[in-house]
Amino acid sequence: SDMLQSFIKQAASINMKQYQTPLPDITEHDLKDYIVNGHVKAFFQPQYNLLTNEICGFEALARIVDNGQIILPSQFINKAEETDLIMPLTKAVINDAFQYFSMLKPEYKKLNLSINLSGKLLDDETIPHWLEETAATHGINNDAITCELTETAIPSNPSVMIVALLRLRMMKFKLSIDDFGTGFASLEQLHMLPFNELKIDRCFVADILNNDKSKALFRRSISLAKDLDLLAVAEGVEDFETKQLIIKLGCKVAQGFYFSQPLAAHDIVNEINESGLSFGVNSLEESKL
Ligand code: C2E
Ligand code: MG
Ligand code: MG
Ligand code: MG
Repeated sequence: SDMLQSFIKQAASINMKQYQTPLPDITEHDLKDYIVNGHVKAFFQPQYNLLTNEICGFEALARIVDNGQIILPSQFINKAEETDLIMPLTKAVINDAFQYFSMLKPEYKKLNLSINLSGKLLDDETIPHWLEETAATHGINNDAITCELTETAIPSNPSVMIVALLRLRMMKFKLSIDDFGTGFASLEQLHMLPFNELKIDRCFVADILNNDKSKALFRRSISLAKDLDLLAVAEGVEDFETKQLIIKLGCKVAQGFYFSQPLAAHDIVNEINESGLSFGVNSLEESKL
């Protein structure tokens, strides 16, 4: 297991890709205005069951919508983390995502909704209760919600966070380690912390066809997930060949541009129809989301 750890570290440092954007961060002042004035929205990227080709859930991703222009997290998440704005920002995303989700027909509420929680958020002990209350307000079952926590946010001594995570699990929320392979969560932590899912970072998926180390790491992540009884999810699948390979390597759930970009709430309807599932179209159209 020490070998796996050093293997993961090595592979991460060699393969980690920077997805840099030439666009500058928005200012703290603008970010605050966007949050206060309701410009923060949730977009939804479908997740697919690779065995049935059906949508099994969505990941809610933060977007700022300004006069039809869409601003991506790369321009504001860091700023939000550095300031105290990550809390109101994340709450706005979750509120929007839950509101949309609550309008689905009851049978589609079985689909999973994944949300991204920053490590900073879990330092606030009121968050689990807030999340439970917000879900209840929208008539959403806690077990339909997966809380993603990026691996780099897991501290070496996660005493406050561990309490928050345990509390969320007791409330039946699911927990996922996001960007797995980019941080250094120890196997002991993985075992100790009550996670349900492991999301393999897209930097390993991106070059899995050409890079044997990425492929080996992916394979090991799948087997680790299996051993620890976690659902393995691949992110960043961009082409058919990659999809075929990860299926061969035992991956059962994935998301990525090959399947779908993150979509505005109203576009999700078409996506679900194409996937062969029927959907609560009326309620959505009426809501003019
Ligand atoms: P993440 O949670 O790992 O989300 C996956 C990112 O990969 C998303 O970027 C998504 O658009 C992108 N992606 C999906 N499929 C593909 C693909 O096939 N190829 C490539 N190249 N990229 C793909 P996005 O939406 O820009 O979000 C970036 C990060 O910002 C997220 O990474 C997450 O860490 C953070 N984030 C997003 N929304 C929130 C939020 O509401 N709260 C918090 N705390 N963080 C958020
Ligand atoms: Mg995520
Ligand atoms: Mg991720
Ligand atoms: Mg990522």
